[in-house]
Amino acid sequence: MEALQVCQRQTVILPVSLNKKKITPFVGTDAQLESSNLWGRMPGPSCKKRYLGRIRAKCGQSETGSDPVSDVLERRSASDDNPMADMVEIRRQQSLGGYGDGGDGDYDDVFREECGVIGIYGDEEASRLCYLALHALQHRGQEGAGIVTARSGVLKAETGIGLVSDVFNEMKLSQLKGALAIGHVRYATAGASEARNVQPFVAGYRFGSVAVAHNGNLVNYKALRAVLEENGSIFNTSSDTEVVLHLIATSTARPFISRLVDACERLEGAYSLVFLTEEKLVAVRDPHGFRPLVMGRRSNGAVVFASETCALDLIDAEYEREVNPGEVVVVDKDGMSSLCLLPQKQRKSCVFEHIYFALPSSVVFGRSVYESRYEFGQILAEDAPTDCDVVIAVPDSGVVAALGYAAKARLPFQQGLIRSHYVGRTFIEPSQKIRDFGVKLKLAPVHAVLEGKRVVVVDDSIVRGTTSSKIVRLIRDAGAREVHVRIASPPIIGSCYYGVDTPSREQLISHKMTVEQTRKFIGADSLAFLPLARLRRMLGEEAPSYCDACFSGMYPVPPRDVLSAEMAGDGLSNQTMKLPKALNATPGLDPSTTLTGIPDSHPRAPAALS
Ligand code: SF4
Repeated sequence: MEALQVCQRQTVILPVSLNKKKITPFVGTDAQLESSNLWGRMPGPSCKKRYLGRIRAKCGQSETGSDPVSDVLERRSASDDNPMADMVEIRRQQSLGGYGDGGDGDYDDVFREECGVIGIYGDEEASRLCYLALHALQHRGQEGAGIVTARSGVLKAETGIGLVSDVFNEMKLSQLKGALAIGHVRYATAGASEARNVQPFVAGYRFGSVAVAHNGNLVNYKALRAVLEENGSIFNTSSDTEVVLHLIATSTARPFISRLVDACERLEGAYSLVFLTEEKLVAVRDPHGFRPLVMGRRSNGAVVFASETCALDLIDAEYEREVNPGEVVVVDKDGMSSLCLLPQKQRKSCVFEHIYFALPSSVVFGRSVYESRYEFGQILAEDAPTDCDVVIAVPDSGVVAALGYAAKARLPFQQGLIRSHYVGRTFIEPSQKIRDFGVKLKLAPVHAVLEGKRVVVVDDSIVRGTTSSKIVRLIRDAGAREVHVRIASPPIIGSCYYGVDTPSREQLISHKMTVEQTRKFIGADSLAFLPLARLRRMLGEEAPSYCDACFSGMYPVPPRDVLSAEMAGDGLSNQTMKLPKALNATPGLDPSTTLTGIPDSHPRAPAALS
């Protein structure tokens, strides 16, 4: 991928001519290329064709080659969107092994959770309990895992790249002694996928040692880091979490808890954090409560904090309550104390936890994830009924919604697709002949269920649309007469800046296409999404306390670090705006709340807000 390597080296990439005048070669980083509006400035098809030819040549692709690059170029040659975003994405996926995941990019065609955290106080088996709990949280991150324990005034850490079962063994766990421990499973959204970025991070400062594990994403990380570096801080990692440790170390407040609060008050964005010192376990949740964090207790009195209740269940800890948004919970030899020291803000819990991230067995933000998904399916059956013979799910995340759909529609639910749980990343080069096997590696169609049938297939969401189109084709190839796709979430029109890895907005199919265009793209006979208004109605009076920014475009915390760069490319300004009238009328939603959002003139805005 020569051109994409060129992007990385930040050298010349686009020696094209514009209206027969030579334009200045474009030099830029990936992000700049992605947001470049050169494509939009090209005057006509012939100029665009030459530009695409250049990219093809640089990538070593033939005119007729069929591969990720050619597919993108073919699609984009007829569109107004800058293909560079997709090109950068291809390189990113290849560096992740994404196309090797069957050669189809399926790995990246879903939202990804950033992390899961666990903290335990008061059990001599703390590291082993952490290890088990991290297994329960493995779905929240598979890139790395770590545990830190405290004993006799010393913090000991063990971290590594890979699954929890790859990182730890009996020998390593036996070294992690102590009754206090925190643990982390990582999926990288901020910071590269390197061993040095695997958490928990441990640091020594003037008054001792502190370790931290973080789930979320700080939207003002770059600004904070710049100030800290200006004042002499030296960073070991490229993760946003490290700034928290520097802020604690440089705070002038006393004692430790005041330093910690002082540091957290400077953070913006999403953070569910667990800290460990030589003698304390501390849990902190950001004032909006974007990411979940719950508290439980074992029968021996040990206190447990975890991202999801499924981790409590596994280690026989009884669920007590959520850590409240803006709350700081301290556990030490004097017992537990709860401090509500962070400024109170409107709660904005991530609704996507209920749609996709959390395990159905968990209770998240006080609601059963299973019940939420079941109801999403029922709403879809009411809202978008269709004549069909059988309801199937895209496993695993579409299963509960499909059960709800089938029950409401009084149709049989069958396992029309079987997921293989043994396929890791395959690292197959994306040569044309084998690319289409990608989805089949993970999903096997059951001919006996599908042949000659009119099929409703329920999935949790559509991100870029590439996987959905392959699934529809798979079902048709297995003999289905009709394929009706039902999506148990509203159309995703915006990226997430609060701890979830999402493609750039340009790559989201629902950002650039209507529902009908999307239906055609994926090749379904019909397509329906869960309407945003129905989702909010289902949440009832809790609706205003949920973030749904990736569906509505209304961002509760301005993602300054990111939006300024992204919006510069397509003429949108990094503006904050008042809620549109329609949303101001939503019961319980604070009309004075200032949000950052897509302008009303955005083509998707009316549909998303309806
Ligand atoms: S933008 Fe979407 S994924 Fe991100 S926190 Fe809000 S609801 Fe969750």
